[in-house]
Amino acid sequence: MRLAVKGVSRAFGGVYAVRDVSLSVEPGELRAVIGPNGAGKSTLFALIGGQLAPNAGTVSLGGVPVQRLPAHRRARLGVGVVFQAARIFAGMTACENVMVGAHATTRAGFLAGALRLPAHRRDERLIRSRALACLERTGLAAWADRPAEELPLGQQRALQLARALCAEPKLLLLDEPASGLRAGERERLATLIGDLRAEGLTMLLVEHDVAFVMRLADRVTVLDLGRVIAEGTPAEVRADPAVIAAYLGT
Ligand code: ADP
Ligand code: MG
Repeated sequence: MRLAVKGVSRAFGGVYAVRDVSLSVEPGELRAVIGPNGAGKSTLFALIGGQLAPNAGTVSLGGVPVQRLPAHRRARLGVGVVFQAARIFAGMTACENVMVGAHATTRAGFLAGALRLPAHRRDERLIRSRALACLERTGLAAWADRPAEELPLGQQRALQLARALCAEPKLLLLDEPASGLRAGERERLATLIGDLRAEGLTMLLVEHDVAFVMRLADRVTVLDLGRVIAEGTPAEVRADPAVIAAYLGT
């Protein structure tokens, strides 16, 4: 699904976290957004996902303006999000956590899923099998019936990805998905992201770890102090003097 961000700004207490940012991501593209800490990456992500409203500018998904829509309405349009900090539902199993993602797209609805209200039986069976497939893809199959809060932190982050995938998103936003993962887990995540890209999923990958995204992304947008300072292929961006200066602080 095509994403177009035009002239988006967001300030906190008079200080711009994101300032006049425009970017457009083509269907099937894997776009990385990189930049130093505090550059505005997570804020931009929230402006696209709908967790924050912009002070100015427009966000459109598949040509539909969504900047006034709350996050759950954008989710219905196909936006999946994996936040920087793990967000799990404690007191539910890993599988139930993932099923909440799928409920967001069914008649039963997200709330019914979160409250575990009885849904239509056939829906429920279908959703459980979809959830198990998503757990399998994210390497969590063995954890399916364990309480989510018992999962190690790295697995809790993978659980959010499984939940997002279970909703069958058309645009997937990933905020620093590799942070806190061990080397082997990072490799598995990189492989999964590569597979999703090959399947044609449009993705926005926000990362602090430049090396991680450079080999995955089609194009890279570089933010610094809330503004876009460079955009291009990984090779173009790597050679850009403005990018080198922003990272080296010169
Ligand atoms: P990044 O994800 O690139 O590290 P953020 O988008 O989290 O950057 O933050 C960008 C800037 O906006 C930072 O200076 C941060 O302190 C500020 N900021 C982000 N969220 C808030 C908030 N909810 N309230 C106040 N300031 C915020
Ligand atoms: Mg961030």
